[in-house]
Amino acid sequence: MFKKILVANRGEIALRIQRACRELGVKAVMVYSEADREAKYVKLAEEAVCIGPASSALSYLNMPAIISAAEVTDAEAIHPGYGFLSENADFAERVERSGFQFIGPTPESIRIMGDKVSAKQAMIKAGVPCVPGSEGELPDDPVQIKRIAKMVGYPVIIKAAGGGGGRGMRVVHTEAALINAVAMTKSEAGAAFGNPAVYMEKYLQNPRHVEIQILADKYKNAVYLGERDCSMQRRHQKVIEEAPAPGISRKLIERVGERCVAACKKIGYRGAGTFEFLFEDGEFYFIEMNTRVQVEHPVTEMTTGIDIVKTQIMVAAGEKLPFTQRQIQIRGHAIECRLNAEDAYKCIPSPGRITMWHPPGGPGVRVDSHVYTNYFVPPNYDSMIGKIIVHGDTREQALARMRTALGETVVEGINTNIALHRELMVDAKFMEGGTNIHYLEAWLANHNR
Ligand code: ADP
Repeated sequence: MFKKILVANRGEIALRIQRACRELGVKAVMVYSEADREAKYVKLAEEAVCIGPASSALSYLNMPAIISAAEVTDAEAIHPGYGFLSENADFAERVERSGFQFIGPTPESIRIMGDKVSAKQAMIKAGVPCVPGSEGELPDDPVQIKRIAKMVGYPVIIKAAGGGGGRGMRVVHTEAALINAVAMTKSEAGAAFGNPAVYMEKYLQNPRHVEIQILADKYKNAVYLGERDCSMQRRHQKVIEEAPAPGISRKLIERVGERCVAACKKIGYRGAGTFEFLFEDGEFYFIEMNTRVQVEHPVTEMTTGIDIVKTQIMVAAGEKLPFTQRQIQIRGHAIECRLNAEDAYKCIPSPGRITMWHPPGGPGVRVDSHVYTNYFVPPNYDSMIGKIIVHGDTREQALARMRTALGETVVEGINTNIALHRELMVDAKFMEGGTNIHYLEAWLANHNR
């Protein structure tokens, strides 16, 4: 096992990784920008290094600063968390070239999966079902593009190969709009992602977002830890996640999970990863893979009893996966609500000082948050200030626990989306389960009317 790990991230995930290190008896070096000096995990750290000013470009995205911080503190490995540099193959490569272990997959795996066209091709080869669409990148010839669209069937979605964060996509309903939409997506993709390649998919009208969590070691052992339903989204950003996904048969999940495991073995994947799918009319369609730990990993930890972050660190240190597929049991139901510093319904960011922070507690309640009373939420980063996760024997019990937990939660001094979560937990359709990816947007639009 490593003696010391550098945590190259901020916010709740930095604290989460610090906690995993403590349990493993590994020292954690925390890095922080000037805006994060007051963060809880920095105060709790045995060692912390300031890596630059508030701007992410100069701190959390600053590769030389992060690698030097690992050098001066004698860390052996770097955990990238999520966001920032976590899916940057060049960073993973630089980390390894500088003599540190990157806690994640190999740079090659990140590269293949980071390009959505090559990721889809790898998945098709491994027998993972994908959204029907163009075979790889779209050609330049308008006649050929039109022919492909006709074959796929309208509506289609044009997506950037290098896209991410819900950007670089355009839905096209008619042939008349097609060529112009392709040209616009291409030029945007070139400017935003440095890669103008685009591809085409059938646009699914009312899918759910269901994803499979996997863990793999360096010895080609891989397992899946069941699924998560992340359909409650706003602007392609997840707001509520749960496991298992309501109303989907275990048999179907097993079939898809096994395919994901086979794909991991085929590409020599190691570490934690997520296969994201759209689920419509009883079918799974792969859309992309995330080669890192995800915000919503706790719902899987609550239902499987497996610590995903600790396992990431263990396999990076060269240990074998400590469990087999047969030992993994899904128990009960877990729900996560993301707490954001923003207006509950208009979603306008609300940074500032938290004058009162009172998190909930009780059986089956977990709070992952780096904030505290008198903490200042900086305006420079993502608005998420923490997550409330509950576990119950059934979905009904989990919902009841979440209602109680949200009822106990007090955050003063800034606006939060707690009121939104409270309403959604008693919303008839959400309580029924199985809402699609448009449900929350439509709900908000109706509320704001
Ligand atoms: P990103 O990497 O930007 O998150 P994804 O490929 O994961 O992009 O897609 C993000 C979201 O866009 C999905 O969760 C879904 O809401 C929507 N989307 C993507 N592809 C399709 C599709 N073929 N049909 C319908 N919706 C889609």
